Amino acid sequence: MSEVYTADELIDGGGIFSRLSPPARLCVFGDPVVHSKSPVFHNAALRAADIPASYVRIHVPPEKAPAAFRALPKAGFLGVNVTIPHKAAALAAVDEADDYARRSGSVNTVVVQGDRLLGFNTDGPGLVRAIREEFSVDLRDLRVVLLGAGGGAGRAIAVQCAMESCERLVLVNRTREKAQALANELAPFFRTDRLVGPIERIQAIPLEDSALREQLAHADLVINATSVGMRRTDPPLIPPSLLTPNLMVYDTVYASGKSRLLEDAAAVGARCANGLSMLLHQGALSFEIWFNRPAPLEVMRTALHALP
Ligand code: NAP
Repeated sequence: MSEVYTADELIDGGGIFSRLSPPARLCVFGDPVVHSKSPVFHNAALRAADIPASYVRIHVPPEKAPAAFRALPKAGFLGVNVTIPHKAAALAAVDEADDYARRSGSVNTVVVQGDRLLGFNTDGPGLVRAIREEFSVDLRDLRVVLLGAGGGAGRAIAVQCAMESCERLVLVNRTREKAQALANELAPFFRTDRLVGPIERIQAIPLEDSALREQLAHADLVINATSVGMRRTDPPLIPPSLLTPNLMVYDTVYASGKSRLLEDAAAVGARCANGLSMLLHQGALSFEIWFNRPAPLEVMRTALHALP
């Protein structure tokens, strides 16, 4: 079985997928996709659940994405996960999407139902489960500082925080205008009298030390949704001196184990966790959407943690 299939193999009828043993009925679209960890834990889940299907990676360049989505029903797929850079294209490709996916502007899980495609996004709900598991708290009870509110993942997390009506949400972005536009859009979710006092429940700030210092003094949880930290050589996203022991720090990045941000947070005694748990839970939620039954979470976790 080859490691990565091409969009053309799918668009040209997808016979190759039915000839695999067990046949490929689930896949992930990405560009690049070779590093996706999803097949490992989804195949472990399919085996554990006695479902005679396999999950494969398909390399889909952006110009082939619309045709690749259209080809899924004929090729016999039950569903697909979508990763960078296709989550917005997936929303455009589906016939129907749930409320959270529409508000997030992105779809990471597609269900094939006859000739129709249904879109969902499990990133935000996956983060909620990850935060509960890692820190034994609920996102909705927290004052959250979100770094990278201008990106796709940042938007999905911000929308989740808003729909949960978390205690407070500070949107931080290098390009402040993007964070401000998102804060304006999400402001209606925070118009309640839950927090008495002069501090706004949703705010946008630039990625600057003085603004961050002020906001971190009123925060419980810091989430990194920027792409900074994916490489070991990345500079620190925020100065270590801004981190304090009372904070929880969650880094959605998981590529390099402990990122610089998490090392700095651990050094001051803050509780911290990386994005593997979000990856695991978004995958488990996709499984639940596809098969309408609980995912074998511990099997998936073991498979994910066994990866080098
Ligand atoms: P994206 O759309 O390209 O967004 C990148 C974000 O990072 C933007 O907010 C951007 O700010 C900011 N940024 C980039 N370089 C920066 C720098 N040098 N300094 C400060 N900010 C910088 O990427 P994405 O798709 O949202 O992905 C972001 C991260 O989320 C990735 O690391 C990905 O691995 C992670 N993620 C993890 C999971 C999981 O399951 N754990 C799921 C989804 C995503 P500007 O707006 O100013 O450009």
